[in-house]
Amino acid sequence: MSKKDKVLDGKCLYTPGGAAREYAAIGCNFYRGCPYQCKYCYNRKGLTAKVMGVDHAVLEDEFTKVKNRPKKYRHLSGEEYANTVFTRELDKNVEYLRNTGIFYSFSTDPMCPDACELTLSTALYAISKGVPVRILTKNASWTKEVFDRIASFTAEQKRLIAFGFTLTGCDDWEPYASPNVERIELMRTLHDFGFKTFASIEPVIDWEKSCQMIVRTIGFCDLYLIGTISHFGDFYKSGSGTTFIANKCLRNIYSLQQLFNLKIYFKESIRKYIPETMTFLYGDGTETTVSPVPMDYDIFHEAMTDPLEDIIHSLKYLNRHNAFLQGYEYKTEFQKESDIFLLWIFFMKYGNTSQLAEYVESIDDSQKERVYNEFKTLLSNAKTFLDFLNMLGRDKKVMYETDKGKANILPWLIIYAEELIEISNDVINEYQKIN
Ligand code: SF4
Repeated sequence: MSKKDKVLDGKCLYTPGGAAREYAAIGCNFYRGCPYQCKYCYNRKGLTAKVMGVDHAVLEDEFTKVKNRPKKYRHLSGEEYANTVFTRELDKNVEYLRNTGIFYSFSTDPMCPDACELTLSTALYAISKGVPVRILTKNASWTKEVFDRIASFTAEQKRLIAFGFTLTGCDDWEPYASPNVERIELMRTLHDFGFKTFASIEPVIDWEKSCQMIVRTIGFCDLYLIGTISHFGDFYKSGSGTTFIANKCLRNIYSLQQLFNLKIYFKESIRKYIPETMTFLYGDGTETTVSPVPMDYDIFHEAMTDPLEDIIHSLKYLNRHNAFLQGYEYKTEFQKESDIFLLWIFFMKYGNTSQLAEYVESIDDSQKERVYNEFKTLLSNAKTFLDFLNMLGRDKKVMYETDKGKANILPWLIIYAEELIEISNDVINEYQKIN
């Protein structure tokens, strides 16, 4: 058996099967049961629901009290013993685990109050050995102690931990978990602290809400995993789950992926709704093809992107994509809405130029030449963008349904493009003066 195919079957660390394998090569389960009682939870369905679906986190030692317990339930008598077993299993497989990482957890929420301590103590041990960990939660109500402890991780520790949040946008399906909006805020904070972050857009309950979850996390989410609901029969046959709405939303997701270079993995369950790749045809006749990331995409070794490069990439895309600005006749109103939607999201992500100004401030002498060339590219793209907007005429309206009601976003975009031009000119002039 090759290293790649190695199967772990420990008391804590194991190789998951089925759909869970799409999430992780190695899982870590200490507890069963969960206080959040999500209506769709797979632990609360099927033959083992009485054992696995209890409404609080139970360390596996109590499994011994369950009659006829399935063989796979392991005896972990107490947190101290669980720590010891974890350490032993990790040390024995450390080389392998450095490649695969560890995922917490398939049998509970690993950041719920009862499970959190063991999750963090073992995660810290794993990263001290160079093993990356991913922790998926729906809990954003961390105690001050937990929050302060995590915030004080060193840069080296942060490099090897990713925090993920399940984002369905449907709080009523997750009655005892933190609201989705709080999970998003915590994700933003952790990303600002320097942690990797990911979103589990699973299960999709309402396609439009799932799409909104992606939109609201652009800029601070390093990976999206999207999957459908299971154990609910033909769930997507009616209402907000129909194939028609799925296609509409998935097209938007592909566009967002292209525009913002998002990393998205579509689980097997989603792939029946979408093609493997999607080709976009622009008004000028050019095409581009977008593909999801593979199952084994490594969030920890992702290349750092430069914020300036990001803006340039997105502007170039918009400049090619703004077919409607060139009088393109849309076949459907939806396509037109999608393009306006992209403009709006672009503005929401980059519209605050103070971040760009801060970036300029942080440039040291050794980077100046590279940055000078990048700003020349930014300047030419910002000018093209402004030309597009001016071509519409300043009286034209580009209406978008914002959180505060319908608004004409054209004046904001024009001001933004002008500011980009001004900042670029300042940087270029400054550089030319000293050279
Ligand atoms: S948070 Fe996860 S483990 Fe807990 S009830 Fe919800 S789906 Fe189940």
